Amino acid sequence: MSQPIVNRVVELKRPSEKYPRHFVPAEINLSDWNQIEPLYQRLLATELNSVHALEKWLLQSAEVGAVIEEEGARRYVAMTCATDDEAAEKAYLQFVEEIVPRLKPYGNQMDQKLIASPFTAQLDQKRYGVLLRSTRNQLELFREENIPLETELDKLSQQYQKLQGAMTVQFRGEERTMQQMGVFMIENDRATRQEAWEATTRKRLENTEALEEIFDTMLKLRHQIALNAGFSDFRAYQFRRFDRFDYTPADCDAFHKAVEEFVVPVNLINLEQRRRALGLESVRPWDGACDRYGREPLKPFDSVEQLVHGCREIFSKVDDRLSKHFDVLIQNGLLDLASRKGKAPGGYQTSLSEIRLPFIFMNAVGLNGDVFTLLHEGGHAFHSLQTVHEPLLAYRSSPMEFAEVASMTMEHIGAPHLEAFYPTPKAARARYDHFQGAIGLLAWIATVDSFQHWIYTHPGHTRKERTDYWVSLMERFMPGVDYTDWEDALRYRWHAQLHIFEYPFYYIEYGIAQLGALQIWRNSKSGVKQAIDSYLAGLSLGASVTLPELFKTAGAKFDFSAATIRPLMEDVRLELEKQAAMEER
Ligand SMILES: [Zn+2]
Repeated sequence: MSQPIVNRVVELKRPSEKYPRHFVPAEINLSDWNQIEPLYQRLLATELNSVHALEKWLLQSAEVGAVIEEEGARRYVAMTCATDDEAAEKAYLQFVEEIVPRLKPYGNQMDQKLIASPFTAQLDQKRYGVLLRSTRNQLELFREENIPLETELDKLSQQYQKLQGAMTVQFRGEERTMQQMGVFMIENDRATRQEAWEATTRKRLENTEALEEIFDTMLKLRHQIALNAGFSDFRAYQFRRFDRFDYTPADCDAFHKAVEEFVVPVNLINLEQRRRALGLESVRPWDGACDRYGREPLKPFDSVEQLVHGCREIFSKVDDRLSKHFDVLIQNGLLDLASRKGKAPGGYQTSLSEIRLPFIFMNAVGLNGDVFTLLHEGGHAFHSLQTVHEPLLAYRSSPMEFAEVASMTMEHIGAPHLEAFYPTPKAARARYDHFQGAIGLLAWIATVDSFQHWIYTHPGHTRKERTDYWVSLMERFMPGVDYTDWEDALRYRWHAQLHIFEYPFYYIEYGIAQLGALQIWRNSKSGVKQAIDSYLAGLSLGASVTLPELFKTAGAKFDFSAATIRPLMEDVRLELEKQAAMEER
């Protein structure tokens, strides 16, 4: 590969020739609310006197939305790629503080105008059904009196973040963050792991009372929000809030039961295998993350050029159409992958919504996990590239239950080609860890989800009842780890799961998506080309159809009961056995 891998997002011209503007002036200054507001005023004043006028208005609204969304994304990219660049930070904050909050009331008025139009009923319902269903739903849930309660919740979320973010531990002569302590958890030396785990756990437990207090207040507020909106409990409200029209709490229950029956046993086999390989009497909480044979970490690459080249090779081995998509990212400078000073942590994929190009950010340091991160974010980018033909902004990105199918599938389908980075014994080791991690997460998802179903349908429960119930779920879904002398760590383990505090009920999406991705992976075993045909066809639908239709087009059933999970777990179990027999020791 001759091309150096550099981020050239700032050089990408907008508006592009390919997707010209018809409504937003080319020279608009998007830092200036006085130039943005007239666009919305014009849209709100437009007379929708025919179906044609309504459709044109929808396209104009989508154009404004895409222009603004891209502006936010560009400023976010600039800031995360150089957190030490004060101008970039200022530009981002100016946008989120001065522009974004002013958009919200207009968004609401636009929704009302759409639903109030007599021509809405005459729109092609097949084309606009999903959009109208969601818009109507959000309007129906809106209550003026819930706004101050939402603000209270935001403040409590900030308190939670502050408590979690401020935690540091004095460890081996240095003050370290929780994230920095993570490296000691994968150490091969058991005493080091234990010491690190105990130090961080002791620190976390200092916040127990404060976190319980925050959570109790959140519960009361959420319950009131649900009552205000006419629901009997917050679960019923939140299901509607998330547009969950295609599955119910009973479906989630079926997922929990199937995980208990078919995933937990596979996890227990793996745990027992880990116990024996490590030569332990019992697996303690500090024994879960290290390598089970005490091997040194895998080192797939030295430079990001090698990372990109290797992932490109994997995509091209799976299907030409994928590597062609990946070339769009390389050639347009849409990758910023290397870890360096001044970069924000983590990884993400975002879309430049107006020029319709994806961008991938990550902090590659040369670990096996970096390969999977790029395969994963690559899947998100392919999703974005598959929807460029879609004129409606709202249809260019899918709900999370399907968005993560796009990304997780690339991890599974890419795994057979890890030889692009390693000789087979090392590739097999990476594949084993990957599939084991995927199903380990399913059990954790079931734990977190079950817990929230119980919490929000038992208003008025005591703290003791809550932690007792949590412990019963840990025994049900995550058995086999010995917490002797650290019972409180077990009782309050959920305190570290940010979703429970900040995004209630948002978590099972990952489980649903994983089942979709595993089904497509299974399809690929009997024919990669057909599997990718369906995968790409599903992706290209964006959000224009319902979740069951998206899954069906992509070649998967939208079902998370035993009927789906049981055969998948059998396949995963066989895959783990196969890789374990080939891996390096
Ligand atoms: Zn993702």
